[in-house]
Order: sequence, then C-alpha cells, then structure tokens
Amino acid sequence: MPELPEVETIRAQLQPLLQGSLIVSAWSFGTPKFEQAEHAAGYRVIDLRRRGKYLLVGLADATVSPSTVASTDEVTRDLDRELVIHLGMTGKLSIDSRPGGSSPSKISAAFASRTRPPHRRAEWLLDDGRVLEFTDIRRFGRIAIVEPGGYFELPTLHALGPEPFSDEFTPELLRNAIRSSNQGAKALLMSQRVVAGLGNIYVDEALWLAGVHPKATNITRQRAVELRDAIREVLESGIRNGGTTLRDYRDASGATGSNQHQLNCYGQAGLPCVRCGTQMKKSVIGGRSTTHCPLCQRRR
Ligand SMILES: [Zn+2]
Repeated sequence: MPELPEVETIRAQLQPLLQGSLIVSAWSFGTPKFEQAEHAAGYRVIDLRRRGKYLLVGLADATVSPSTVASTDEVTRDLDRELVIHLGMTGKLSIDSRPGGSSPSKISAAFASRTRPPHRRAEWLLDDGRVLEFTDIRRFGRIAIVEPGGYFELPTLHALGPEPFSDEFTPELLRNAIRSSNQGAKALLMSQRVVAGLGNIYVDEALWLAGVHPKATNITRQRAVELRDAIREVLESGIRNGGTTLRDYRDASGATGSNQHQLNCYGQAGLPCVRCGTQMKKSVIGGRSTTHCPLCQRRR
C-alpha cells in the first residue's frame, strides 16, 4: 500500500505537470467511491499538496488565469474546491500526454469515445488534450470533491494526526499517546491519529530503528525522541529513494521505487538482524504481519 513517501513521490512528479491546467471534462467508473471525480470538471488546478497518504489537488474557478496560478504561493492561495485522491492498496496515477485532437472539440470527442482499460476508475481531460488517469485494481482507493479543508466525508483524513515533519509532531505527543493507548506502539502509529502517513512498512522500520517493541505501551522520554527521529529518518529515506516497491507501487511515470533495497526490518523475518545478528521474528498485530528483532526491540 502506498504510504507517505510513495504519495509524496507522485505528488512531486505531478505538481509541475498539472499546475495551471484546466480540467475540461472528467469521467468516472460510476461507483460511489469514484464518481465524485466528475465534479472536478470546469476547475483549474492550483497546486498539489499531500496530507498523510492523501493527495489534495487544489482547484479554483476556471476564470482564474494560469499566469496567476504560477505566481500563487501558499499564503495567497485561494481555492474553491479540493479533489481528494486516496490510492488505497493498488491505486496508480498516470498522464497520457498524447493530445486526443487538434481542436478543443476534437479533443473532447476523442475523450468521450476513449477505450478504457478494465481497472480504470477515473480520468480527467486537461485543456491541452492530456489525460490524468486513475487506475485501481482492488478498488480500496477513494476520490472525493470537497470544500477546501472540509473533510467530514472522509473520517480518516478529518481526524488525521500531525504531519511527521511538522513541529506539532513532538516526542511528548508520541509518548503520551503510546502511554494512554492499550493497543501498543505499532497499532497506534498505524491508526494515523498520532502521526499521519505511516503504514506497515515504515512503522516496522521506524520501531526497529528506535528499538521499540511493536506492542510497547510505555516508552521513556529519551526513546520517544529516538522514535520521533526514526520515523522521520525512514520516511526521508523512502522519499529519497522514490518509494518502496514490493509488488504494485509505481510512481506517476510508471517506474518502481528503490527503497525496498534499504529495508532493515520489514519482510526480514527469519533472517539475522543487521544490527545484532538475532533472528528476526514474525507476528501478527492488528491483523497486519509484523517483524521485529527480539533483542533490539525488547519490551522494557
Ligand atoms: Zn537486533
């Protein structure tokens, strides 16, 4: 499943390709999880942001000129709508750069009569004829159009904890959350409520790096600092390496990431710990396969 580094990689790729473009038409697979994609038609793309594992496409009225968009910064941004895209397990975004015709009417006609592959869930036609495509084999993804910042329809996004690189994500917040939770560190980090963007891969990596047991319900102040730093470190590594591809993940250009070659814990069960040589152990926590080192990550 795409986690923060994978979504951030896609966001950074698509931002320069989409910013300023007018969405002239849209198509959806027609089921409730994807049909709101069609409401993006008639809006101009202002910017692409990310919250946790969600991609947020900022939209403004079509009358906003593209030159204004190019100079719009964070502070003066004025959005009319947001297109929210969650990739779920197998969601992929890509751009078909071949214009479907030479005139606006030909481009629109070509879009309307397009042959779509079986797992295509949404498409957005841009004013220059390019098409942004969303494909999702397993259909755990989600597309929504909301008022800027109005995420009530999307409970996980609405209740999302702070971004891991923000000042609000402090060791104290992390420690208090672990101590007041009976589910243990791993389940808590997976919940998105204390920090946004982590999933199974990067949680296992961060807990291993900081030496925290996946079921820990108490950690020292010092270890909370180490865990906060470890979370940032594994995510930074993921972003630097263009994401982790184990099976499905591809970036917006269709390429695999390379962070899978940097993993020290996830998927290493039965192998010796690269830090201490102890055999890495597999378990199931909250229904998710979990790997940890029994020596480096003792329950204290
Ligand atoms: Zn170890």
